[in-house]
Amino acid sequence: MSEAAPTGVVPVLAVVGRPNVGKSTLVNRILGRREAVVEDIPGVTRDRVSYDAEWGGRAFTLVDTGGWDPDARGMAERIKVQAEVAVSLADAVLFVVDATVGITDADEAVVRVLRKSGKPVLLVANKVDDERREAEAYGLWNLGLGEPHVVSALHGRGSGDLLDAALEILPEPPEAGPGELGGPRRIAIVGRPNVGKSSLLNQLAGEERVVVDNVAGTTVDPVDELIDLGGQTWRFIDTAGIRKRVKEASGHEYYAWLRTSTAIERAEVCVLVLAGNESIAEQDMRILQEVREAGKALVIAFNKWDLVDAERRYYLDREIERDLVQVQWAPRINITARTGWHIDRIVPALDRAIEGWETRVSTGALNAFLGRIVAEHPHPVRGGKQPRILFGSQVQSAPPVFKLFTTGRLDQGYERFVERRLREEFGFVGTPIEIKVQARE
Ligand code: GDP
Ligand code: GDP
Repeated sequence: MSEAAPTGVVPVLAVVGRPNVGKSTLVNRILGRREAVVEDIPGVTRDRVSYDAEWGGRAFTLVDTGGWDPDARGMAERIKVQAEVAVSLADAVLFVVDATVGITDADEAVVRVLRKSGKPVLLVANKVDDERREAEAYGLWNLGLGEPHVVSALHGRGSGDLLDAALEILPEPPEAGPGELGGPRRIAIVGRPNVGKSSLLNQLAGEERVVVDNVAGTTVDPVDELIDLGGQTWRFIDTAGIRKRVKEASGHEYYAWLRTSTAIERAEVCVLVLAGNESIAEQDMRILQEVREAGKALVIAFNKWDLVDAERRYYLDREIERDLVQVQWAPRINITARTGWHIDRIVPALDRAIEGWETRVSTGALNAFLGRIVAEHPHPVRGGKQPRILFGSQVQSAPPVFKLFTTGRLDQGYERFVERRLREEFGFVGTPIEIKVQARE
């Protein structure tokens, strides 16, 4: 959600290594504390793997392959496949090894994957908590990946130098002149298996398909495709993942999730494909949550509309009320990817969502509006006090973030009221909104 991220192609840095070497700890160290943007949805597991990150003024997407515990059986094979998936998504890799343990067979399996990929790699010798331990890291030269970068992810030791080195191996983002957009709009088609993502992509691509090989000499990312739609060129993120040319097609949900999460993070706008003929599933909700949390524009496409009869329609409307209440703002379209029916509605919906996502409200207009809604509907009195909104400003767009300065904490209900009124007044179709409250004590 950094300001630098919305346009241009942000390079992807993946953190790989066997379990327990400290990948997640390193990712948290790189990100610093990250605020949760949205409340938890009960029953939905939160397990993000991709994040916007920034160092030295450069934005990149960080992919965390930690937090995943393979069972002991077949572990080496799964670590290898996991590394393959992560590496296929990435422009560069941080390969983390536990310096206190040394090189294991699993580490060596990952090294072979990394070599084969030809992607730039930095070897990270983690858990070097103090100087005495540095000697242990020297043994890692034997991996043949060059100099080990000694760090302590836990204590932060060496992490700045590591990031400096990481920036060196990441491809340069494209040059975007002032006021100019950095390349085509980035769109991710997401959804659980079999909802019709690849059918949709094939319909959209038609004969116009161009496989992105080396756009303007910048990020080489063979898994994206450029497609002309409605007189505009769009960059479809990770179409290899959508088309299932890759290995994880055979099975593990984790790999699909890794790709989905990374595609969302790299996109500006997401099309969530749902199967109109089936109930909204927990997996659908999980993807929705990820889109909201990542702060991306969103269009919801109910596919397989040819299979939706009157009875199903009745239940679907109930499900929408129940499950999609948090994303009422997202444009919804009904399509049949198989035949192309209503496919032409996608571009207008994308345009509206992106427009809402990028909307900026001037400080003057915002405060006139805030004055009005506060007069109409003051905050309820709580414990003899009545918090007031003193002033507000939109501190970011894409997605919109507002900061309200108040005399005290606002009720959640009141925050929701402010959000609802903001949407009524200024549009914000297709975009999550974040409201930050700074209370003067
Ligand atoms: P992952 O499975 O590779 O993501 O590993 P985790 O980040 O979950 O870390 C595994 C364990 O190693 C946790 O108990 C961490 O606290 C610990 N750990 C991670 N980094 C360091 C470090 O730099 N020094 C020490 N001493 N422990 C660490
Ligand atoms: P993906 O896994 O999300 O990429 O889904 P696919 O595009 O591979 O589609 C899964 C199955 O659903 C295939 O058998 C498709 O032919 C079928 N399918 C896709 N779109 C539609 C549709 O609009 N209507 C119907 N009836 N079937 C569809």
